[in-house]
Amino acid sequence: MHTIEQLNDGRAVYLNGHRVNVADVPIFRKTLALNNQYYDLQHTHPEVHTYQENGHRYDIAFKVPRTVADLQQKHRAYQEIAQSNSGMLGRTPDFLNTGMAVLAERAAFLGQNQYTDFAANARNYAKAVKANDIFISHALQNPQLNRQKAINAIPSEYAGVHTIERNQDGIFVSGAKMVNTMAPIADDLLIFNPPELLLENGDSSYAVAFATPLNNPGVKIICRKLLNHPAASITDYPLSNALDEIDAYIVFDHAFIPWSKVFVENNVEMSNRFFIDSGMFSHTSHQDEVRGITKLELATSLALRIAHILGLDGFLGVQEKLGRLTANLELIKGTITRSEDNGHLDEFGIYTPSLQALQAVRSTLPEYYDEALRVTQHLAAGSMVGVPSFAEFDGDNATILNQALTTDRATAKARTRLLNLAFDLTSSGFGQRQLMYEYYHGGDPMRIRAQHYQRADLQAGNQMIDRLLSADNANTHEQVITPIPRLVLK
Ligand SMILES: Cc1cc2nc3c(=O)[nH]c(=O)nc-3n(C[C@H](O)[C@H](O)[C@H](O)COP(=O)(O)OP(=O)(O)OC[C@H]3O[C@@H](n4cnc5c(N)ncnc54)[C@H](O)[C@@H]3O)c2cc1C
Repeated sequence: MHTIEQLNDGRAVYLNGHRVNVADVPIFRKTLALNNQYYDLQHTHPEVHTYQENGHRYDIAFKVPRTVADLQQKHRAYQEIAQSNSGMLGRTPDFLNTGMAVLAERAAFLGQNQYTDFAANARNYAKAVKANDIFISHALQNPQLNRQKAINAIPSEYAGVHTIERNQDGIFVSGAKMVNTMAPIADDLLIFNPPELLLENGDSSYAVAFATPLNNPGVKIICRKLLNHPAASITDYPLSNALDEIDAYIVFDHAFIPWSKVFVENNVEMSNRFFIDSGMFSHTSHQDEVRGITKLELATSLALRIAHILGLDGFLGVQEKLGRLTANLELIKGTITRSEDNGHLDEFGIYTPSLQALQAVRSTLPEYYDEALRVTQHLAAGSMVGVPSFAEFDGDNATILNQALTTDRATAKARTRLLNLAFDLTSSGFGQRQLMYEYYHGGDPMRIRAQHYQRADLQAGNQMIDRLLSADNANTHEQVITPIPRLVLK
């Protein structure tokens, strides 16, 4: 649990060209309060949100899942946390905490160098995060400066984060990461690279993974513009004016990182293995997709509510559109369940969800979410954009509006509130950023789909094809099909 004052700890947060105190930004205060639901739920609903280990209680995200039932309990907890913010906070603490649980178990592959034991550092860090339940945020994606070149061949100090000096105490790093969500209100920042970091021979200084407190004097958090509407009420913008899980560009300038917080250094192979081989990718994906369902549920219910309140739900064509949305939601829920039921015990005895199922959700959910927003926009149409400020209900026009906007399905105020929510989710800057988040926060859907195809197990289908073809060629017994070579992804 954090108070906003704790975040005035010297961290360098920049907003609209000025260095700011986090506590002075009202929307950050509201976001922190919503994020703190993660901690509150441990007290109000401990049977779902906590578990006991060696006489201590921890958040369930830190539990190493050993059975499908463990994953299912985590699912319930992730879902309740996401529901507490209507699915609008993508990076609540449970996201990386579930990654910490498995990192601690699987860290051995990280090895050591002459200064430090990376595996022990990762284990100790994960244990400290769990013991203190601190909030970690992460940044892996490097700025897109030149797609034709390896990162160390780009003549810029800001192509990624790299070691500029190392000594027996630790490393000094400089550079930048392209996007981070939540840094102004998190405690620590976890830095690593995407699994396909491309480096030219010679300089492997970009191959790093480490953690640092956000008030490290060498770290700057340069925020994007806020998406709230300070001049309007929460009723006009029920989402934009309730939270902003702010995205930021992160800059390192000679930031010192003690060896105890370094997990990969000067090692391209380990940098590329860090996210996947630590188990963090699979387990954070599980949290992420459960959160995604919650958001899709909100968008789906909103489309149905709009159709009803505007008197459109009796038309067959509209019902078909709504039926597509409810079917999409059902498919996503079923696939998450499949990821849990089709999990496996890894070599460390960790019950791991099916990544193929989770990646099917990740590549598809953004389009389903987009479709739900578009259906709402098209149904709400002019009714939505014609909504006056809610303040009109307290002004000269109150009587007119109360009469004019009341229908047989809703009072003027209820109708206005719903249409405001519809506008905020589908059409405001906040809503469009939420849509972008779904498409891109977990990687480019194009690449996710390409990888899905690469890993697909189509044995049953291929056997049928082979049987059909071999019957056709029974006389020759020839191998009639040459497998199509699959692309190697870079
Ligand atoms: C709201 C939001 C929050 C985020 N939060 C975080 C965070 O907290 N931490 C973090 O590390 N990252 C975060 N990200 C960044 C995210 O990791 C990246 O956006 C994501 O990995 C995609 O990378 P990119 O943006 O560089 O897209 P790119 O890889 O640049 O792709 C951009 C577009 O170009 C197309 N494209 C690229 N290459 C090709 C090609 N060879 N052929 C055809 N088309 C191509 C892609 O399909 C895509 O449509 C966030 C992103 C968003 C939008």
